[in-house]
Amino acid sequence: MKNDTSKTKPPSEDEQLALWSKRRVELLIAADFKCSRCGNRFHTLRVRQAYELVGIPLWDYPDSAFACFCEGCYRKLSRLFDESTPAGVQ
Ligand SMILES: [Zn+2]
Repeated sequence: MKNDTSKTKPPSEDEQLALWSKRRVELLIAADFKCSRCGNRFHTLRVRQAYELVGIPLWDYPDSAFACFCEGCYRKLSRLFDESTPAGVQ
């Protein structure tokens, strides 16, 4: 029997987390683990989306919608951005 519920049913919180984790790793690899601001290479970078797209889940955003920052730059920039970070963004 074919399971069609995955198309219409929104992903559970766990599935959303898994989807975002996967997407996040893709973005980090695409960024070559370099901070977009200072250009230094880090194992742990924070991914931040540059804008919000209504009706599109975070993991379906295009690469251009994201930037990767090291902890220091992320903190500096977080003061400049508004606080509308969706849950799940790290
Ligand atoms: Zn940096």
